[in-house]
Amino acid sequence: MKTQNYIELETNYGAKNYKPLDVVLTRGQGIWVWDVEGNKYLDFLASYSAVNQGHCHPKIAEVMKTQLDRLTLTSRAFRNDQLGLFYKELCELTHSHVALPMNSGAEAVESCIKAVRKWGYKVKGIPEGQAEIIVCANNFHGRTITIVGFSTEEQYRDGYAPFTPGFKIIPFGDAAALEAAITSNTVAFLLEPIQGEAGIIVPPEGYLREVRRICTEYDIAMITDEIQTGLGRTGKLLAEEHEGVEADITLIGKALSGGFYPVSAVLSNKEVLGIFQPGDHGSTFGGNPLACAVARIALKVLVEEGMIENSAKMGDYLMEKLRGIRSQHIKEVRGRGLFIGVELYPEAGGARRFCEAMMARGLLCKETHKHVIRFAPPLIIQKDDIDWAFERIEEVLTTL
Ligand SMILES: *Cc1c(COP(=O)(O)O)cnc(C)c1O
Repeated sequence: MKTQNYIELETNYGAKNYKPLDVVLTRGQGIWVWDVEGNKYLDFLASYSAVNQGHCHPKIAEVMKTQLDRLTLTSRAFRNDQLGLFYKELCELTHSHVALPMNSGAEAVESCIKAVRKWGYKVKGIPEGQAEIIVCANNFHGRTITIVGFSTEEQYRDGYAPFTPGFKIIPFGDAAALEAAITSNTVAFLLEPIQGEAGIIVPPEGYLREVRRICTEYDIAMITDEIQTGLGRTGKLLAEEHEGVEADITLIGKALSGGFYPVSAVLSNKEVLGIFQPGDHGSTFGGNPLACAVARIALKVLVEEGMIENSAKMGDYLMEKLRGIRSQHIKEVRGRGLFIGVELYPEAGGARRFCEAMMARGLLCKETHKHVIRFAPPLIIQKDDIDWAFERIEEVLTTL
């Protein structure tokens, strides 16, 4: 079958909730992927940061294969020999007290919303049904009804009402707005340290520190959604480290499995997650031995193979090169580590055509919103490969 045949299958039988670039991939290794025609591409998106460790990392694949033959699912009705080790290694690495394993990122977000609300009622004494959670404009936290209910993106909400109440939206990057929005019923502030889907929006220096101070002062839980910014993407294990702060709750997912399996987690201090009693929350697949084994090795290679430091180094290198491009289309280059957005002027005609032109030259990246090109390659990328990609990026941005 050819590319077109695969696309027809998707068009005929699939829901149309995505508009992917027309490349049909069949194999991946490290930073490279191959399509069904045998063409090779450098993956400069890394599955929205789910394959930070590179495609089909051999060590993760090996552990997964071994675990596949041993035990995959027990449900939480019984214990398994991977979960405790996963908890310990994850908590030690991230300086968390307790962790709650889930599957998708959205489930981690939902789980922490349940936890902070319950904490608000049982510990803070907020009147039942009155808990408020503050979130940011242009947030992205997933696609469930509750989560899109507090999105400011019209398309994410359109046609899905009624939504879950109890959320208040403030501008991102504005600590004074947070302080002003807090009431006696506020339980938490949920934010992305760098807004990803909004177009790689980096908040002003000192913002996270201010947020930390305010959350502590008013005794509300600071929740950082690091599902995309975490696990080395921005050049630190967690993006909050750039400002030396620790959130009360941190959400991770995506690269937690190196792209092999859906694994997410809520990382928390003892106080908030400690609120859950047996039966309060659950997930059939959450914490299963296959997920735990895969996540343990995915974290191990991330740290042991120096991917976090490499992200910082290669990110700086790429950013500097991108800032040197002389193109009338570029409005701004921004980001941190290997999490970089190039915003184009509206006159450039949208980022998509630039992504398509890069694809034709063997480089896969994706527009984020209309005018931003996101560059987020696997964190194992080396200088030579950045140079290779940069040649193509520069050519496209200066000749199109
Ligand atoms: C991807 C993402 C999510 C949702 O994760 P899913 O696994 O797609 O449910 C939540 N928050 C952020 C910041 C994300 O980037």
